[in-house]
Amino acid sequence: MQRTYIKEVFEGKEKKVNVKGWVHETRDLSKIKFLILRDISGNIQITAIKGKTPENVFEKIDKIPRESVISVEGTTQKSKQAPNGIEIIPDKIEIISEAEHPLPIDVSDFSKTELSKRLDYRFLDFHRQKIQAIFKIQNEICNSFREFFYNNGFIEMQPPCIISSASEGGTELFPAKYFEKNAYLAQSPQLYKQMLACSMEKTFMITPVWRAEKHNTIRHLNEARQMDIEVAFANQMEIMKWEERVVKYIIEKVIEKCKNELDFLKIKLKVPKAEYISYDETVKLLGMKYGEDLSPEDEKKLNEKFPDTIVFVHSWPTSLRCFYIMTKDEKPDAKLSEGFDAIYKGLEITSGGQRIHMPELLIKRLKTKKMNPKNFKYYIDSFRYGAPPHAGWSIGLERLTQLIVGEKNIREACMFPRDRDRLVP
Ligand code: ATP
Ligand code: MG
Repeated sequence: MQRTYIKEVFEGKEKKVNVKGWVHETRDLSKIKFLILRDISGNIQITAIKGKTPENVFEKIDKIPRESVISVEGTTQKSKQAPNGIEIIPDKIEIISEAEHPLPIDVSDFSKTELSKRLDYRFLDFHRQKIQAIFKIQNEICNSFREFFYNNGFIEMQPPCIISSASEGGTELFPAKYFEKNAYLAQSPQLYKQMLACSMEKTFMITPVWRAEKHNTIRHLNEARQMDIEVAFANQMEIMKWEERVVKYIIEKVIEKCKNELDFLKIKLKVPKAEYISYDETVKLLGMKYGEDLSPEDEKKLNEKFPDTIVFVHSWPTSLRCFYIMTKDEKPDAKLSEGFDAIYKGLEITSGGQRIHMPELLIKRLKTKKMNPKNFKYYIDSFRYGAPPHAGWSIGLERLTQLIVGEKNIREACMFPRDRDRLVP
């Protein structure tokens, strides 16, 4: 018999069905026994009645350990008591894979198992509907991001992840052995996306990045995924607009397509507004010291002042931005830059800006930052043979997911997090 997904049972397509999935719960009321079966599409009640259900099925139905994988053949019927109004009366139950007990973590909806223990058993944690809801939403975030840029004529890029030298400076790199040479895991696709934008004009990608930052925080991973774009003939304003549009699109799609997941997580998601404010204005608004980065507290304050809003803090001082961010009016000594950060729900989700596409200016900026232009020869030379002005940004996928699903710790928004202490599973 062909397998039917639980969701299809509720659609009432078949009367005789074979459903397969995990034992979510069992209950024994002596003359009647219930088993809640779960598959990726939903839950259904299997109801065994003494005298009516075959004896061997009735006897074993409440004795199958929770989370075991089973196959049930039976007949669907309407029932007022059953959740969603339909239940299955079983003829046959087959245990496909019995779960050992006790389970190492609590997988119930009320699980109190702490995060690090859950991550040790992440494969089992994925049995939980809450965790499945988070990653179904993440899936929709990625999908709608791709869809949006694909529909807007962008080219999806696959940048290399093993690189020969630092693309940014600053963040620490993970070294890797590459035959006779030293290599590193990429901390960003920066250089490569710029090279592509300088020929194919509009590019986007979702790509992993590695940062060997030693600190262990609730907003950083050592391996994260970035959603990036890079656009030729664009300045910071134009790419901030792209970000406003795509984040709104993503959230509209999540609201439309992940209704059940949002309900399960008890999240009321709103399509955000957008606010554009310069660094100078932000300093005045928050009473910050000029020349300092936004602290986590400042980011929270921005959220209080502009709730349900993506706050684009633009035109940062050059001293606070990477060497490759364009200086105002292309002047080498400009105090301000064409760089921005986006803050959403009190957390930085993006850094971006217009890049320097002029080799001489790039060399000057590197020197000002006390970096050696020789180490960036490939990068600089890539702009010598016809490079238009261009700009781009990157949104942290796990950060955005974490904020949409309302989790405090970024690890909740990563299937298999890598942090200072965790390399397995
Ligand atoms: P932060 O200031 O929050 O440490 P950053 O400025 O170092 O971040 P960027 O280099 O600007 O990070 O990276 C672009 C985006 O990628 C960030 O805005 C964030 O959403 C995400 N991101 C950066 N570093 C990490 C990390 N270690 N773990 C998870 N996401 C990250
Ligand atoms: Mg940043």
